[in-house]
Amino acid sequence: MNAKAKSNDLMDKLVSLCKRRGYVFPSSEIYGGLTSCWDYGPLGAELKRNLKNYWWNVMTNRRDDIEGLDAAILMHPQVWHTSGHVAEFNDPMVDCKICKARFRADKLEESRCPKKPSKTPLTCGAELTEVKQFNLMFKTFMGPVEDTSSTIYLRPETAQGIYVNFLNVKNSSRQKIPFGIAQIGKAFRNEITPGNFIFRTREFEQMEMQYFVHPDEDEQWFEYWRQQRWEFYLELGITQEKLRWHEHGEDELAHYAKAAYDIEYEFPFGWQELEGVHNRTDFDLSRHMEATKKDLSYRDDRYTEKFIPYIIETSAGCDRTILTLLVDAYDEMEIKGEKRVFLRLSPKIAPIKAAVFPLVKKDGMPEFAEKVYHELKKHFKVFYDVSGAVGRRYARMDEAGCPYCITVDGQTIEDETMTVRDRDTMEQKRMKVAEIIDFLKKKTTI
Ligand code: ATP
Repeated sequence: MNAKAKSNDLMDKLVSLCKRRGYVFPSSEIYGGLTSCWDYGPLGAELKRNLKNYWWNVMTNRRDDIEGLDAAILMHPQVWHTSGHVAEFNDPMVDCKICKARFRADKLEESRCPKKPSKTPLTCGAELTEVKQFNLMFKTFMGPVEDTSSTIYLRPETAQGIYVNFLNVKNSSRQKIPFGIAQIGKAFRNEITPGNFIFRTREFEQMEMQYFVHPDEDEQWFEYWRQQRWEFYLELGITQEKLRWHEHGEDELAHYAKAAYDIEYEFPFGWQELEGVHNRTDFDLSRHMEATKKDLSYRDDRYTEKFIPYIIETSAGCDRTILTLLVDAYDEMEIKGEKRVFLRLSPKIAPIKAAVFPLVKKDGMPEFAEKVYHELKKHFKVFYDVSGAVGRRYARMDEAGCPYCITVDGQTIEDETMTVRDRDTMEQKRMKVAEIIDFLKKKTTI
């Protein structure tokens, strides 16, 4: 199998596992689906919640210098004029005159011809139009009148909600610079060529943090945040060799940025951006200050001269991180002649932390196992399963990403100990319920 076929094969297997085990479903599937929109199923919703909690914990709860925010998706339309999105949030696009498909002009090599999916628009014989600019913002109307005066936008990034609340957060929290504001929320971009499952979609979630600093200290904080964000992915258990930095060259830098680095992951379809760390200078606050005439400059007892804060931004995609976690965790092994799938998610973010099984449906084992299940349920998301041979039950949980399986057997009835099997080492240790609770707390606390 060549590299491209292998990569498609892995993505196909992952998409199918996600559907089978309830991680991700195509949106509106019974109506034939909606391009590039996906729904998170029972396990996916849990994984996403765990990831968001984890990020929130690392970026706010563990620190004293970052406050949280949850701004509205719909904002004053003027915000998007001020930020430059109305004029400049464009992607270059081309149309094929033969099949009418539309492609991103700067991503032709990664695009597929809809009529000949094994070919790119560069090799399928397409007749491409001149490059045109296409604005990525979704528009809608507010109120009962549908005209230009009522046009508003679905936010294409969460960051602007933070900038326009800079004063509110500073005044209400009494934070002093340097400090940050963190936010998790939906963003919408009418991408010309979405694809690769949940990698590029038109509706997605971002986990963003904007850190406000003195202009003389921007470089040191930029380095600090690069380091912090890199460690975040390692702490999540992502393979270090599959992560790298990509520095934006002069031609890639956004007009407002002084420096930008992306953390990239080696997906089956190549190295791609997972998160951006940007030095946005004082561009955003200056623009909003100019447009609103509100004083967004800063002074305190340490910085006695007024200045407009510089912003160091860390901007991660939640759905892209989910895809990274799933790709990185996917593993196949042959056990006793049978091909088995393992989803080796870190216990910290795995949707189900442990499964409880009675070895057989007799001799008091189901009753004991149910009691243990209810006890564990008070602390963790756990799953109870009695159906099928115990080997099959292990296999189901391995594929669902559950890190621990707890089995009640004959010995349990005598001494109250159960086997706790580790998905990755396959080691089994006997423990009583109180020890299991301590053990799971240690392994799953974020
Ligand atoms: P790309 O070059 O992939 O389009 P970008 O540079 O436009 O991404 P940013 O505007 O920096 O991305 O957004 C920050 C993060 O938001 C990205 O690193 C990515 O994880 C996520 N993101 C951006 N666009 C999408 C999308 N269409 N679908 C899913 N996640 C996205």
